[in-house]
Amino acid sequence: MTTQRTLAIIKPDAVTKGVVGKIITRIERAALAIIAAKLVHMTLAEARGFYIVHRERPFYESLCAFMTQGPCLPMVLAGDDAIRKWRDLMGATDPAKAAAGTIRKDFAASIEANAVHGSDAPETAAFEIPYFFSSFELWPR
Ligand code: GDP
Repeated sequence: MTTQRTLAIIKPDAVTKGVVGKIITRIERAALAIIAAKLVHMTLAEARGFYIVHRERPFYESLCAFMTQGPCLPMVLAGDDAIRKWRDLMGATDPAKAAAGTIRKDFAASIEANAVHGSDAPETAAFEIPYFFSSFELWPR
């Protein structure tokens, strides 16, 4: 086990649906520490930059438009094996394929509007965390 930081996002569909509290409860029950959090309504340019790795995928523009529909809630989670733990809580990208009891199974509507994001590797987290948070915003500093 290694202590890690990961970027989690409660996506606009889940914020609009009013399930932020339920998702945060799952994070707390998994003993992941929330060391930063804020509501952000991304511009299209910001969403395109965040998902730049997907720029060649057919769903890129649709995904970026979805992410700008309303505010989302980026958070930094910390703990042992935080990247894997958070992705286990999230479930598979497509809610139809997500395991029972996962966030996407319970709250996602589609493969695009799938409630949450999580970094998939330490290198990804190293890009994604500073995309939303300065070191000044991470606790403990
Ligand atoms: P994740 O790591 O499970 O979030 O999945 P990916 O990194 O593969 O994709 C990033 C995000 O793009 C997903 O969370 C979805 O919101 C969206 N996405 C992935 N695959 C598709 C797809 O086939 N169609 C659409 N419309 N969106 C997708």
